[in-house]
Amino acid sequence: MNSKPEADGLSFRESVDHMVDNAIEIMGLEKGMGNALKSCHSVLQVSFPVKIKGQAEIFTGWRAVHSDHRLPSKGGIRFAPYVDQDEVEALAALMTYKCAIVDVPFGGSKGGLIIDPSKYSTDEMEAITRRFTRELIDKGYMSPAKNVPAPDLGTGPREMGWMVDTYRRLFPDDINYLGSVTGKPVEHGGVRGRKEATGRGVQYALREFFRHPDEVHLANLSGTLKDKRIIIQGLGNVGYHAAHFLEIEDGARIIAIAECDGAIVNLQGLVVAEVRQYIDRTGSIKGYPNAEYLANSAEALELDCDILIPAAMEGVITNKNAPNIKARLIAEAANGPITYNADQLLQERGVQIIPDAYCNAGGVIVSYFEWVRNLAHVRFGRMERRFHEAKGRHIITAIEQATDVKLPDWLSDEISRGANEFDLVRSGLDDSMRLAFQDIIECRRTNDRIKDYRMAAYVLAIKKIARSYHDIGY
Ligand code: NAD
Repeated sequence: MNSKPEADGLSFRESVDHMVDNAIEIMGLEKGMGNALKSCHSVLQVSFPVKIKGQAEIFTGWRAVHSDHRLPSKGGIRFAPYVDQDEVEALAALMTYKCAIVDVPFGGSKGGLIIDPSKYSTDEMEAITRRFTRELIDKGYMSPAKNVPAPDLGTGPREMGWMVDTYRRLFPDDINYLGSVTGKPVEHGGVRGRKEATGRGVQYALREFFRHPDEVHLANLSGTLKDKRIIIQGLGNVGYHAAHFLEIEDGARIIAIAECDGAIVNLQGLVVAEVRQYIDRTGSIKGYPNAEYLANSAEALELDCDILIPAAMEGVITNKNAPNIKARLIAEAANGPITYNADQLLQERGVQIIPDAYCNAGGVIVSYFEWVRNLAHVRFGRMERRFHEAKGRHIITAIEQATDVKLPDWLSDEISRGANEFDLVRSGLDDSMRLAFQDIIECRRTNDRIKDYRMAAYVLAIKKIARSYHDIGY
């Protein structure tokens, strides 16, 4: 795993704070409310020993709760060598805004553990994850009602499975124990479609952008996603799914992929699934056939393209490389990939930025569906699927009898198909992403002082949160 890139003098948290300050100023919000919005409600720091190869090793981690005006507070847990409290607090704040933007009724939280997962065996990772989980539970920072973790950088269904099992063992009588974590494996209470949800959400955000010709025009682009030249940084969970779906379902051309150990470029378009398989097989992107290799991975961000999707980590576009970015549209799949200063520079050049707080909200949207499913104790679609199927068949029979024409098989199949869990999760995700972007556009259009989507998204979020703080007191 790479180290944290040098940002341009501002910490990630300071960058987020600056953006929120600007939104607060535009809204003319009273100072007390502004301060309440910015402050993190509580932060837990833990240090605990785990025996690794016979020796006790000390691990340090955090869980920050930025807001609990809605419960549970929600946010991922990241495992990375460079995590710190500042970053975890900034990410927790981002979660509050994210949930508000896409209308998910959660507060904002985030966790992090300083660790390089590549240095530990599976058994060691399990022991470390379970111990960290016990610390969070002991201190009141994890439960289905108060605080629900999810995957983030360096964590996935495997870690979430260990976490939920640890919770279940400690609280065997909690009938809602599955709701203590989201992003679990499907066999252990996860919802179908969660793993790819964040990447799928990025795809839906871009699709919605291209449904609005005026917005497309603002980015100096035209047409649809078809044949758009896309550069993606980070082929992990988020980046892989976003790039793969955009390639195979929207006909976009993924012309470059930047990873930790270099970048590959092919202007005709890369086959994302093959690149992922190559990395899994060889452990590196280097040597991938039929592509030019760049040893300096960050160079790929500066290549000519239509859309740039940073999907790796924060602070990768700074005031140093921002002037060289050629993309007309940037979709922030990662959290905080553009620093505050870089954001200002890009805006001056008219680059349109779909902000992280909206663009990568697919994960928390589907986490919300998973949590609802866990509390309902029933798979989505189980009650109504066959009912709709039967109804569809009656409609086909009625049409065929009335017209004396047999409908083509594909059309009959479509009409009579009852929605399964995958269909419903995707539909709910698509709906949430579409409505949120329409709100963002509306907000930008109706206030002359709002010049970009990020500011519109923050204003939208802060309005909702401030209303809630006013209603319940803060
Ligand atoms: P991941 O660990 O699955 O993937 C990250 C990928 O980026 C890896 O392939 C890694 O090798 C690569 N990478 C790391 N540093 C890099 C660098 N400097 N240059 C190029 N490549 C680099 O993580 P993820 O879950 O895909 O998360 C990626 C980003 O998306 C993070 O910012 C995370 O906070 C954000 N995010 C994730 C989710 C989620 O559901 N997983 C939800 C919302 C936001």
